[in-house]
Amino acid sequence: MLSKGTRRRRATEAVLLAMLLGGCGAPAGAHPTTPAAGQPRKEAARAPAARLSRSPVAAISYPATGRNRWSTAAAEAPTRPGRGQLLRYRVAVERDITGLPVADVAAAVTATLNDPRGWTAGGSWQLRRVGLDQPADFTIYLATPGTRDKLCQDIPDGYTSCRNANRVVLNVARWVKGVPGYGASVNTYRQYMVNHEVGHRLGLGHERCPGPGQPAPVMQQQTLGLHGCTANAWPYRDGRRYRGPLGEYDDELPPREGARRAA
Ligand SMILES: [Zn+2]
Repeated sequence: MLSKGTRRRRATEAVLLAMLLGGCGAPAGAHPTTPAAGQPRKEAARAPAARLSRSPVAAISYPATGRNRWSTAAAEAPTRPGRGQLLRYRVAVERDITGLPVADVAAAVTATLNDPRGWTAGGSWQLRRVGLDQPADFTIYLATPGTRDKLCQDIPDGYTSCRNANRVVLNVARWVKGVPGYGASVNTYRQYMVNHEVGHRLGLGHERCPGPGQPAPVMQQQTLGLHGCTANAWPYRDGRRYRGPLGEYDDELPPREGARRAA
């Protein structure tokens, strides 16, 4: 047990650290917006805070359910126009998540979506990250398990990620831990979860493992089981679209995720 004083001191330190590392611009109260469930408040990430977040790296922590308030990343640097339908997206991180600065999360998401193995490879779509002040077609949220349930409005499992209309919701517990037995790095799992949920936003449904030892299609529910396939994060392999048969498995949902405390 910690004494009250220690606890209060640690709480103050945590708040200060969060303000330093959150990369989320102005402190609460500066923007008189009232966030409603499903209409998360968005705040522009500001460059100085993002730079501060580089060092030191805070331990990752989050509550089981955050307050549905958001830090939104700035737009990506302008890129050459590609081919296909342009979809603009924002990246937002729930403000109760510590140790995952929005600029870093957005950089990882955008690197995945701009990858030559990603959804833009076929020339049907262009995906571009925009900031708060530009219109967007969808938003990618990194959310606590409980907020995931609020945004997804599906079976409230607190474990998976989802896509609900123009919300692509990534569960922070999966972002941090991946899934047991995945057989690939957490980085690969993150690329998978981004591509899978954005794939739903592009109108794609679930697919099954095409055969034992084959790479899992990106639209397979790899979070719940590989079913003889191997982990794969990408919709294109060797420059060709890689798919499996349409359908899904009747996998059991793992127990819901709780809070994660900084070590
Ligand atoms: Zn899915």
